[in-house]
Amino acid sequence: MDRRTSLAAIAALPTVISSALASAAGLSVFQALKPSPTMPVMFLGHGSPMNAIEDNPWRRAWQTLGAEILARPEQPQLILCISAHWLTHGEWQVTGMAKPKTIHDFGGFPQALFDQQYPAPGAPSVARQLAQELKSPATGSAIGIDAAEWGFDHGTWSVLKPMFPKADIPVLQLSLDFSRAPSEHYALGQQLHTLRQRGVLIVGSGNIVHNLQAVRRGTASNDAYDWAREFDNVVHEQIKKGQLDALQNFQAMGALAKQAHPTYDHFLPLLYAAGAARRTEMPRFFNAGFQSASISMRSVLWG
Ligand code: ZN
Repeated sequence: MDRRTSLAAIAALPTVISSALASAAGLSVFQALKPSPTMPVMFLGHGSPMNAIEDNPWRRAWQTLGAEILARPEQPQLILCISAHWLTHGEWQVTGMAKPKTIHDFGGFPQALFDQQYPAPGAPSVARQLAQELKSPATGSAIGIDAAEWGFDHGTWSVLKPMFPKADIPVLQLSLDFSRAPSEHYALGQQLHTLRQRGVLIVGSGNIVHNLQAVRRGTASNDAYDWAREFDNVVHEQIKKGQLDALQNFQAMGALAKQAHPTYDHFLPLLYAAGAARRTEMPRFFNAGFQSASISMRSVLWG
């Protein structure tokens, strides 16, 4: 039996048998989402990739949060992560591989950081399902599946590894179609809400303020530029008051928004988390403070 024939034969087998084969091959056996109590949704400020391995208050908060989620009666069946570091142009994509690779998408860091792996399984069948269910808000076109190129970038693994070190919950990444307007990112986030009742933990990973040109290394976490504080405060207030719809209009802050986000890739994941939240859900803030004076680490959990 050549490779093509054997693959066709496997595809024709009942799910239960193909699951057993996948299991024998060490692949994900996660097939489908099941109804669940509402899962939480969070936005995490990830900051420097070194937070993945340095013992510091940011990372300790991630560890505590992960342990808290695992101690709940109902645990996530799957994590859907929207990271600032996966930008696509022209379509949204979801990772569709069974064993996503750990991507070290940075330079100039110690070898110990490049040695990090996050071997959580993917969930190809759920990715296919999501690609059918989710629609590009403005065009109605389907979400694409990336079965080979991406994996877990550091926006994903640097926070998931401290939270869920066993890496035993399947993880999908959803890209940011950077050709689309912020309002469309928020609208796609709203589509994610119902996934929370199907066991999906939604994690947006970016930063509420992110200006790499202005970083002042070694600055204390309670010290930051005035403009960084101001933007961070506005966003904090909007979330606190449940004004989640207002977040998509951050560019109306003009020069202040431009200073906080010379490019706004790190703000967009917040729009997904806020879209998947409900204004009636009380937000819980943590990791307030700044890294290097121009990166807000403020994070928020709903549910
Ligand atoms: Zn980043």
